[in-house]
This record gives sequence, structure tokens and C-alpha cells, in this order.
Amino acid sequence: MDLSYDEIVGKFEKYVFQTYTRQPLAIRKARGAVVEDVNGKEYIDCVAGIAVNNVGHCHPAVVDAIKRQAEQLIHVSNLYYTEQQAVLAEELAHLTKMDRVFFCNSGAEAVEGALKLARKASGKKRFIAAEHAFHGRTRGALSVTHKEKYRKPFEPLAPAVFIPYNDADAIRGAIDDDTAGVILEPIQGEGGVIIPSDGYLKEVREICDETGTLLIMDEVQTGFGRTGKWFAREHSGIRADIMTVAKAMGGGFPMGSMLAREDVAANFGRGDHASTFGGNALSCAAAIANIEVIKREGLVKRSEEMGKYLVQRLKGLHKDYIKEIRGRGLMVGMELTVKCDDIVNRARERGVLLNCTSDSVLRFVPPLTIAKEQLDKAVAVLDEV
Ligand SMILES: *Cc1c(COP(=O)(O)O)cnc(C)c1O
Repeated sequence: MDLSYDEIVGKFEKYVFQTYTRQPLAIRKARGAVVEDVNGKEYIDCVAGIAVNNVGHCHPAVVDAIKRQAEQLIHVSNLYYTEQQAVLAEELAHLTKMDRVFFCNSGAEAVEGALKLARKASGKKRFIAAEHAFHGRTRGALSVTHKEKYRKPFEPLAPAVFIPYNDADAIRGAIDDDTAGVILEPIQGEGGVIIPSDGYLKEVREICDETGTLLIMDEVQTGFGRTGKWFAREHSGIRADIMTVAKAMGGGFPMGSMLAREDVAANFGRGDHASTFGGNALSCAAAIANIEVIKREGLVKRSEEMGKYLVQRLKGLHKDYIKEIRGRGLMVGMELTVKCDDIVNRARERGVLLNCTSDSVLRFVPPLTIAKEQLDKAVAVLDEV
């Protein structure tokens, strides 16, 4: 298969749903923090599949685990047990400090599971979510996603109210007799890398405890070392009742999970939830290898260090188009006074992939393995454009 850029785009235009705004770039290969297009041009990747490729593209240990597992067993369904799912469940429970895990294949699917579990555990219907929250595009997840443009055409959705992020009192005021749970990202990702003030999540935890409300923490984007901790909840020291992870879980392989505390998890009985592909041997093998790499290469610490370095370099830019630079680990947002599409385009032409979210926030979520020199080059290109 060696199609040209035009042939590839031609087929997309003819056959693929036109639901994405794609950049004019067709990627053929990737390794570490570098991707290569079909013409052989290389790019430093500060997007990493949107916080997916934390261990870098095609990490040899993940590739090897996928190859070896693919030769042994790919899929058998959850009608049976597999050792890969057993080992990963134990590892993930330890890492997240949750008690039980349900395996699925994506972030939205993990959120669906979380909402269903909260609905059943509480016996109540309504969710509280934050303004600018993003939790996915399936109908349950969409019901707690804030953006009007995403939601409106698909109403009626499940009942939800939106409160301002980083305002614990707003949550206190919104909880009523029909509240099934509160769902929050510990750092808002799609919303523009919004970091709450110290103490916010702790206060939310206290409010949920006082009122007996379930707290769902969506760590789909913030997990697996992205923010300089294994999971971003560690920055505030709190534990959620239900937690969702996905993006970086499988080292690029589709993988997600919903986790819960024992007493909450106990509300899901046999038949209450299921997924055909969820936790299949191949995705579990990829996730096990991915977690091993994060540990072995000290990527959680590295994320913290390189994140600080990147923020410091970006702050050195001192340009009047920069409104604010904020970050935790290698999850960094640079809010501009202008829209960022143009900058993304011009940086790409110069060999750097950047992502723009919420119109005017440049979001840096590169592989945690990215070299200092690669970050330097990205910052230099950014300065130029
Ligand atoms: C990306 C994301 C999702 C949705 O994940 P998909 O795998 O795209 O379904 C959910 N929640 C958060 C916080 C995300 O960043």
C-alpha cells in the first residue's frame, strides 16, 4: 500500500463520513516523538494522538508485546477468562487505588459505563457536570459534555445541569434529590487545559461526602503520567467513587476502563454492563507493556520535569499575543489573544505538529519521551510563526 497523498484524500472525500476537520497531512510512519508523512517529510509531534502516545509512537516494547500476543491469542470474548485481563486488572487497581475495573475500548465508552453505574448505584437520574467539560460523543457521554454545538442536534439527552468549573459552591447549590452524581475532569482538556485552583477537588469531595453524592473523575486525558503524576487526582490527594481512563492506556492501542470503589461497583451485577471487545487479550497485552514502559523509563517524573521546562521556554517567548501559559506535567496550554488555526498550519509547514483547542488555546501534549532538543525545536518554530 503506497498511495499518494492525493489518492488517499480522494478516497476519504468519496467514502469517509465528513465528521472531522482534517489537516492536509497523511501520515505513514511514526517513531518516538516524530511522525513521517507519505512524502517522507518528518514532523515533531506535540499532539501525540491527543494525549494518547505517552510512551512515544510505536514504542518497541509495546510493538513487541502486541506482536507476541497477536500470535498467541487476540480475542475470545468475556464469556471466558484470560490471564492478560487478570494481570492488567490487578495492576490498574493498584495504580489508580480503585477496587474494581471494567474494561472497554475508548473514553466515551468508559464514561457511558460510569454514568450507568452511578445511575444504578444512586437510583437517581440527573448528573452535574462542568461548563466546558468534554466527556465524549456517545449519547450518555454527550449529555454531560457542555458544548451546545455538539449537544443540540441530538437532544433529548440524559438529564444534566452544568455548573461553572472551579466553583465548589456551585456544585453544593446544584445537588438535589435527583442527583445521581457529579462528573469532572481533574484538569479540563478539550475545554482549554483549565487547571482548577488548589483545594477545589478536595472541597468537591467533601460536598459529595456530606450529601452522599457519587463523584466521577474523568481521567481519560489526564491519565498515565500525562500531568506529572500517574493520575491527575493525585495532585489533590482525593479518591473518586468512579473513575474513567482511556487515551494513553494502551500505548496507542484502543483501550479504556471504568473503575470504581468496591461498594459502588457492587451495584453492577451480572448482565448490567458488557462490551464484546472490552479487555481482549491483545489490548490488555498492549496496556500491560505500556504501563511497564512508563515505570521503567520513569516517564511520570519525566513528564513533570519536561513540562516545567516547556512552560519555562514558552514563557520566554514574551509575545503580546500570549494571554496565559498553564500546565501540569506535559499537559500544557498556551492561551492566545487570537485564534490559533493559522499558527497550527504554519507550524506544520515547518515540521511541528500542534493542536488547537477551544479556538485560541494551543495545547501541548507531546509524548512523555520527547527530547529537550525536540521541544526546543518546537518552541523555536512556534516563535518563528
Ligand atoms: C477524549 C476524551 C473523552 C472521549 O474519549 P474517546 O476515546 O474519544 O471516546 C472523554 N473524556 C475526556 C476527558 C477526554 O479527553
